[in-house]
Amino acid sequence: MIHTTSEALFAKAKNYIPGGVNSPVRAFKSVGGNPIFIKKAKGAYIYDEDDNQYIELINSWGPMILGHAYAPVEEAVKAAIQHSFSFGAPTRKEVEMAELIIDMVPSIEKVRMVNSGTEATMAAIRVARGFTGRDKIIKFEGCYHGHGDSFLIAAGSGAVTMGVPDSPGVTKGVANDTLTAPFNNLAAVQQLVDANKNQIAALILEPVVGNMGTVLPQEGFLENLRELCTKEGIVLIFDEVMTGFRLAKGGAQERFNIMPDLTTLGKIIGGGMPVGAYGGRKEIMDCVSPQGPVYQAGTLSGNPIAMAAGYAMLTYLNEHPEVYTTLEKTGEKLVSGIREILKKLQLNYQINHIGSMYSLFFTDTPVVDFETAKTSDIPRFGKYFHAMLNRGVYLAPSQYEALFLSTALTDEHIQAILQANEESLREIM
Ligand code: PLP
Repeated sequence: MIHTTSEALFAKAKNYIPGGVNSPVRAFKSVGGNPIFIKKAKGAYIYDEDDNQYIELINSWGPMILGHAYAPVEEAVKAAIQHSFSFGAPTRKEVEMAELIIDMVPSIEKVRMVNSGTEATMAAIRVARGFTGRDKIIKFEGCYHGHGDSFLIAAGSGAVTMGVPDSPGVTKGVANDTLTAPFNNLAAVQQLVDANKNQIAALILEPVVGNMGTVLPQEGFLENLRELCTKEGIVLIFDEVMTGFRLAKGGAQERFNIMPDLTTLGKIIGGGMPVGAYGGRKEIMDCVSPQGPVYQAGTLSGNPIAMAAGYAMLTYLNEHPEVYTTLEKTGEKLVSGIREILKKLQLNYQINHIGSMYSLFFTDTPVVDFETAKTSDIPRFGKYFHAMLNRGVYLAPSQYEALFLSTALTDEHIQAILQANEESLREIM
């Protein structure tokens, strides 16, 4: 494959943009080589500036669950654009959007729109602090909740990929208020709670982690966290930026039937536009300004074009439950195919999978938390990544990410991805 245009663009970009990219993982730093610059995408395919075609397994890190440029979303955006781009005033669509989110996500009684997942999580912990009058929060090692200061402590995703899970620039005071525990380790959480009695405002987690690669909650883990938070007056926050509208219409909370107090949303909620939201129990959300004293605002929050895209996306998902059956089947076919290839090649790598999210870890150790995720052979993952890219499959350029399937993937795509896997794994053995 030829990448000369991407190479030239990256060389130029580095003069003007830190590291040449507007979000770190895009730079291919941990897998090596030159990032590809994207020109367009449609359905299951994405095309780079050198006109190479790839099958999509990133899907903009989650949002494009129906494939790229999905017609109902595209039409809604085209229609909305006729009426200008932003008003900074209330609109009908925001009300409809809030009603739809509350209808779809089981635990949400009131919701506030923001512009990204990061804004949603930052606001959610502020509200939890305002509601409880407490300062500390608990997060899990390897979970990523955006780039807010409080979350760049033992953070997954790009932060660990770049080797800075604890970012410089976060003050000691903020870091001291974030307590961390290993995922799937209830005893560690209990210890933190006991040692910080009546000081913990919130416990935040990805109910299924995508940001240290895909890691599932073990049997009873979410239930036990729910029970503990209720007993201790801690606000339980499910960060469903990745899992929301993906693992089920109502996200992981619907799939596992556990009701958090607050939920943060992003990605799919905007249909590809920059949208986030946080919502939950009425009595907590009523703390938010102007109803209550906890301040949170946004010039572009509820932007009409973004709301049109998001509303069209959520409406489609709400009215087409077969989307989720299809995604389950696609995930099952792809992952069982990769398992067979691993068996045939006598490789003991781990695959974690749920619905339309999965990760192949280059380690023999079952991956249940950050420590076990970090046993992966990163250089080997880098070789695998490039072998797949050369065969026209676009994977996340980091071991510490989930891959996201879309409904645009057909059986032919699955076969092509499996063939690329077999050839790539043989090549790098
Ligand atoms: N929370 C989770 C679980 C995420 O995966 C992400 C981003 O990947 C975020 C929060 C931050 O969202 P954003 O990148 O839209 O700020």
